[in-house]
Amino acid sequence: MTRLDLSLDAAALTVVLCDIESVSGNERRLAEAVELVLREVPHLTVQRDGDTVVAQTDLGRAERVVLAGHLDTVPLGDNLPCRVEDGRIHGCGTTDMKSGVAVQLRLAAQLDRPNRDVTYVFYDNEEVEAEKNGLGRVARNHPEWLAADFAILMEPTNAAVEGGCQGTLRADVVFSGHRAHSARSWMGENAVHKAGEVLQRLAAYEAEQVDIDGLVYREGLNAVGIRGGVAGNVIPEECVVEVNYRFAPSRSEAEAADVVRRVLDGFDVRVTDSAPGALPGLSHPAAAAFVAMVGREPLPKFGWTDVARFSALGVPAVNYGPGDPMVAHQREEYCDIAPILECEERLLAWLR
Ligand SMILES: [Zn+2]
Repeated sequence: MTRLDLSLDAAALTVVLCDIESVSGNERRLAEAVELVLREVPHLTVQRDGDTVVAQTDLGRAERVVLAGHLDTVPLGDNLPCRVEDGRIHGCGTTDMKSGVAVQLRLAAQLDRPNRDVTYVFYDNEEVEAEKNGLGRVARNHPEWLAADFAILMEPTNAAVEGGCQGTLRADVVFSGHRAHSARSWMGENAVHKAGEVLQRLAAYEAEQVDIDGLVYREGLNAVGIRGGVAGNVIPEECVVEVNYRFAPSRSEAEAADVVRRVLDGFDVRVTDSAPGALPGLSHPAAAAFVAMVGREPLPKFGWTDVARFSALGVPAVNYGPGDPMVAHQREEYCDIAPILECEERLLAWLR
């Protein structure tokens, strides 16, 4: 069993955490190491559900804050073990999001009498299908573990507060035709050709920019895939264009589906998957105090993150973490050391 040393600084700890490979579905070793080290911390109560570990203080404070981070990473890109060079850690999971996890662990060990009660959540399977998500599982099995006034998800944000998150919707646009030998194409009806107009509409569509609490959410409606055709000598009888709509959190999933249907009016649009966004909630007192403490201009979150799960539980949530979201999931993934130390310092100051 790996023993973590929480007296290492957050950067050195990031390296240790990244070098324990934990691609989604393979978090056991890391979850065990996290559980083991937190059970040795006298001021924490520790719970475990699958490969999710939840530790909390119980000081009866007036307010409770969740600090959450996922333990898993996307598949390796030949980028482990980590390499440290010129104030930067290179490797899988450095930015997304073991630098955030390192900060969480350091805070958990140091904050024996925080001014707000703190719940630290380390969960599995964030980088894969939503139904496997450890945070979702805990929300179903033990919603009381996540009860709080405010949550901070330590996903990479370059140490700025990113409020809320956008929703996402996927739809298939289905075209049917009639199969024929391509040497006698007039006998058939080409389903792939029919997709042309939908592609043109999507290319011409100007996505909206929606202002919420002073944060501008820039939407996007795009074709993200196309499939059709069975052989080089057959006129295709089916073609499917896969569409993804990233929508502002002020829209519901139903409204988002209406937007897609309106833009693609006249076509067979089938929604296959959607997840609501989360409103930034920056006007909530705990969130406002947090933003003031961070001292940087808050930004909108463009990806979908688990802040939406907290939002659904009635807990306002923001993203705040040391990594750069632009290099997440890349082979060249890295994280600068300075923002890791800054995040730890700011959170320590806020919770002390
Ligand atoms: Zn992440």
